[in-house]
Amino acid sequence: MEKNIFEKIIDREIPADIIYEDKISIAFKDINPQAPIHILIIPKKRIEMPEHIDENDKDIVGHLFVIAKKIAIDLGLKDGYRLVMNNGEIAGQSVFHIHLHLLSGRRLSWPPG
Ligand code: 5GP
Repeated sequence: MEKNIFEKIIDREIPADIIYEDKISIAFKDINPQAPIHILIIPKKRIEMPEHIDENDKDIVGHLFVIAKKIAIDLGLKDGYRLVMNNGEIAGQSVFHIHLHLLSGRRLSWPPG
C-alpha cells in the first residue's frame, strides 16, 4: 500500500517540524496553520478515518489526547485550546490518516465554519 503523506513524515521521507514523538504517536506543526499554534498529533498506526477506529484502537486514540494535553502544558496554553478531528471530506478531512488538531493562540469562534 502506498504511504500517505503523514506516514512519509513518520518515516522522515518528507520534512516536518516535529515537536514530539514516542512509540505510538508523533506531533508536528501544521504546514498551513489556522491559528498561531496549530499542531497535529497523529498515531503511527495507519487509521484512515475516525470512523475506522475500533475497540483495539482505544489506547492509541486515548494516547493522542494525553499527548495533546502534554503539549498544551509544555507550550503554556493556559488560556485554552481546541482539539478537533475531522471525519470525511464534508467535515474538512483532507489527509486520510487520523490526526488530532491542536489549535490555540487566538480566540476561536464556535460553531466552526
Ligand atoms: P484535515 O483537513 O485532514 O483535518 O487536516 C489535514 C491537515 O494536514 C491540514 O491542516 C493541512 O494543512 C495539514 N497538512 C497537509 N499536508 C501536510 C504536510 O505535508 N505537512 C504538514 N506539516 N501538514 C500538512
